[in-house]
Amino acid sequence: MRLIIMQCCVMMQSCHCHGNLPASVLTWNRMHATTATHCRNFAVFAGSAMLLLLGLPSLKSHVQDTAVDISMAGLLLVMAKAFLKFLPLMLALLVELSLAPEKRLFCARLFKWQKSRRIDLYSFILSHMHRVHAILNMAFTFGIPILLDRLIKNSMPRNFSLFALLERHAGYALAVLAFVFVATFFNYWEHRLWHSRILWPIHRFHHSATDYNALTETRKHFTETLLTPLFFTLPLSLLGAPLEFVATYLALILFQGFMNHTDQGISYGWIGRHLWIDPLYHKLHHSSAAEHMNMNFSGTLPLWDRLFGTYAPAHGELAVGVSGAPHYDTLPYWKIHLRDFSDLLINLGTALKDKLGRRGSIGRGGN
Ligand SMILES: [Zn+2]
Ligand SMILES: [Zn+2]
Repeated sequence: MRLIIMQCCVMMQSCHCHGNLPASVLTWNRMHATTATHCRNFAVFAGSAMLLLLGLPSLKSHVQDTAVDISMAGLLLVMAKAFLKFLPLMLALLVELSLAPEKRLFCARLFKWQKSRRIDLYSFILSHMHRVHAILNMAFTFGIPILLDRLIKNSMPRNFSLFALLERHAGYALAVLAFVFVATFFNYWEHRLWHSRILWPIHRFHHSATDYNALTETRKHFTETLLTPLFFTLPLSLLGAPLEFVATYLALILFQGFMNHTDQGISYGWIGRHLWIDPLYHKLHHSSAAEHMNMNFSGTLPLWDRLFGTYAPAHGELAVGVSGAPHYDTLPYWKIHLRDFSDLLINLGTALKDKLGRRGSIGRGGN
């Protein structure tokens, strides 16, 4: 554990230096094509891998303990949440530091003050600091699945679990792989749901970022932050996924989320287009161009986009943001949240009225 904390401190110092000292960035520029850079990149990768290997088991047990004893709530939940977000962000920034062209490094850009970046930073800090938010989020993420898990176990035949069934017949590793595959499928559809006409005002906040950086991952309306984990933790629990699998998957998916929003110059080439998405792939999803609307929903496997006809190849420079929503430029942070929420209520009201109207007209037609 001490080693993990030390690693985090070293990483934070490294990022801080690159953000604050232009001289360091310049030195870094000159070093970029040298052997020293390769050594440095290797050290960064080795450090990330070690951190992941050492961090995940402790993270897993930490989350599990926290989730089981929900009555403890308070500080412990806030700390667990902070830990959950901090570690994947640091890892993503390390990878960016290692791969991205230095002029685009988020650490270097953070200090150039701009409204979009400021909102990203508020969202990140609020998702860490706001206790009610953290408690509710933890309850939605783990509380409801645990509750359902118990209900299912009480009402189903003893030991029923698809995960256990797979584990018995194919082994633990294959069961985990199969469930990761299934979980990415739920993630894909959860994202598509946020793009539906009714829910769009909530998810629009995430897309309103005009600067693309790792913190954009946490730029989410509070309604989305609360409900998103439920969309996939719930079906996974219903299928019998163990709690430690769900916790570890959540940590990994958060790392992937931060990674997806890191520098847009990062492309994995053929791998990014066919096997595992790269930041460029997700940047197209944020593109403000009309032809990119509702494309590249997947946050992990390009397979789902290709299968469901929402894949678009990404190249070159892409401008991000949304059109037709000027309140993101004019309103303060908390009013943006209220405005988006009221737009959701208006959409819900209209949809309900349409449905009732249609039912009424069908009734009249039948008479
Ligand atoms: Zn989206
Ligand atoms: Zn995004």
